[in-house]
Amino acid sequence: MEDLQTMKTCLCIIGSGPAGQTAAIYAARAELKPILFEGGMANDISPGGQFTAAICIENFPGFPEGITGRELVDRCRNQSLRFGTQIFTETVTKVNFSSRPFKVFTDLRTVIADAVVVATGAIVKQLSFPGSNSFWKRGMSACAVCDGAASIFRNKPLAVIGGGDSAMDEAIYLTKYGSKVYIIHRRDTFKASKIMQNRALSNPKIEVLWSSVVVEAYGEGERGVLGGLKVKNVVTGEVSDLQVSGLFIAIGRDPTTKFLGGQLELDSDGYIVTKPGSTHTSVRGIFAAGEVQDKKYRQGITAAGTGCMAALDAEHYLQEIGSQEGKSD
Ligand code: NAP
Repeated sequence: MEDLQTMKTCLCIIGSGPAGQTAAIYAARAELKPILFEGGMANDISPGGQFTAAICIENFPGFPEGITGRELVDRCRNQSLRFGTQIFTETVTKVNFSSRPFKVFTDLRTVIADAVVVATGAIVKQLSFPGSNSFWKRGMSACAVCDGAASIFRNKPLAVIGGGDSAMDEAIYLTKYGSKVYIIHRRDTFKASKIMQNRALSNPKIEVLWSSVVVEAYGEGERGVLGGLKVKNVVTGEVSDLQVSGLFIAIGRDPTTKFLGGQLELDSDGYIVTKPGSTHTSVRGIFAAGEVQDKKYRQGITAAGTGCMAALDAEHYLQEIGSQEGKSD
């Protein structure tokens, strides 16, 4: 067993998606010598976050031909290393934000930091039914904006599970590509806001299967891609066949905030509350960036933007308190 190490820094960044790495690039260029924890399969997601699962990212500016999520993440990582970010492939297990300097703990070390950027993202809630793993990224997805334009979905019937704003958003977006979009919802009323419901319900390409749940996904011939679903009506118990080439799960996400142990203000869905127009959290000196504080936009580019904001906010804060920690090491 390795000895626990204690390290000091001006700025510790937790998370390695576009938000965390952008914060690191800006902070490292400002000579704050940031320490970044990229996670070691935290929540079963590779270092780099949700992007690592994306087969082709076509909406991140600067890559007109598209880029794989893995390559984009590696490029961000290399860029932050180039300017001097110290990266550890470790998962943060707990923090102490109740006294200054702050403390960030992994199983191998403790980092003492004058400021911290939390950029730990969120994980999509998953469903488990026969076939739910077999067709993941082979017809099944949790992000219409990321995957909806793929050729396997073009002019084909598609389905979305969920009854919240995300499900409405996904379904409306998918009508651009699919021949028809079914919303499969477990109850007979939506949870979504009225305006989003109305938009979805008035779209001629959308049909709602109320009080219904997916009980099985099956493949299409030998191709190993999704061919259809068995859908059960929870009121009548009847199971029917629904031939679709795409299934998008939109039943909510869980922001990764448990390790914070209630030390930052969270909203009712568990997202970190930031002061409007900034990345300041309820604790001065702690900043939040990316999806862990954004349930509305949830895009790589918006995460990167708030990562930049967090580094600039942290730099101003460190100047205010006269922190020299990383600079003198
Ligand atoms: P959400 O509001 O929590 O809705 C989740 C939906 O999934 C609910 O309808 C729920 O059903 C259903 N669901 C949950 N678990 C399920 C399961 N095991 N099986 C089947 N269905 C299940 O999540 P969200 O839609 O992702 O929205 C999260 C937050 O982001 C909300 O505050 C939302 O307003 C916001 N958001 C805003 C926008 C926008 O402004 N454009 C877009 C997306 C999200 P029940 O209804 O039965 O509970």
